[in-house]
Amino acid sequence: MRRKLIAGNWKMNGDQDLVRRVAEHAADSGGGAEMAVCPPFPLLAAAASQLPFGVALGAQDVSEYEAGAYTGEVSAGMLLEAGCRYVIVGHSERRTLYGEDNGRVAGKFVAARGAGLTPILCVGETLAERDAERTEVVVGEQLDAIMDAVDGPAFQGAVIAYEPVWAIGTGRTATPDQAQAVHAFIRQRVAERDGSEVADQLRLLYGGSMKAENAAELLAQPDIDGGLIGGASLDPESFLSIYNAAAEG
Ligand code: PEP
Repeated sequence: MRRKLIAGNWKMNGDQDLVRRVAEHAADSGGGAEMAVCPPFPLLAAAASQLPFGVALGAQDVSEYEAGAYTGEVSAGMLLEAGCRYVIVGHSERRTLYGEDNGRVAGKFVAARGAGLTPILCVGETLAERDAERTEVVVGEQLDAIMDAVDGPAFQGAVIAYEPVWAIGTGRTATPDQAQAVHAFIRQRVAERDGSEVADQLRLLYGGSMKAENAAELLAQPDIDGGLIGGASLDPESFLSIYNAAAEG
């Protein structure tokens, strides 16, 4: 049985007040699912000290390097020390706005795992790729790059978020059937290389305009094990409603 995970990706938003309000609401998260919050780096310390026990902390990005002359970068070891359990790698905004290719994302994934963090690997296709029926090719390549870079089962204990780029921040959500089909494909692809035990335990999140109104339907799909929430995670009440849909489902 996979415990559902609802993770909030604040992107470059939020302040001390949001940390306080989310921490207050998170106190009402019953424990039926797992909640994680990924604020920007400068808010990690405040979140670590205010989030209730059982609510996990995550970061939004990590360097592929351990230490050194990499101005502006943050290492996996630093995130661990700051109290993080999770780190998002390969978010589509990093891939498109900052030119992160599959190789670089794999380096970050390896660095995160090596330090003892749980990577949340984001994969997903653009609208043009979906229209050209290339979703499985693109997502398959994104997964293979990780599995090529890791000796042994790459996704053991990891989390993957399927985030169709056309659904992120657009208000347009994949239908439950569309999302389920890609999630089933991901689990199958991982099973082929990492084995069925790793694939069966792997948590696959859906991300892309998930909100209180559509969460239950998406989370009811057999291969959707939670959500990576952008916009709606900035509203503590909405975020808690999504969490409750996961905890009750
Ligand atoms: C995201 O950026 O990971 C995301 C899913 O954003 P939104 O929920 O706003 O579409």
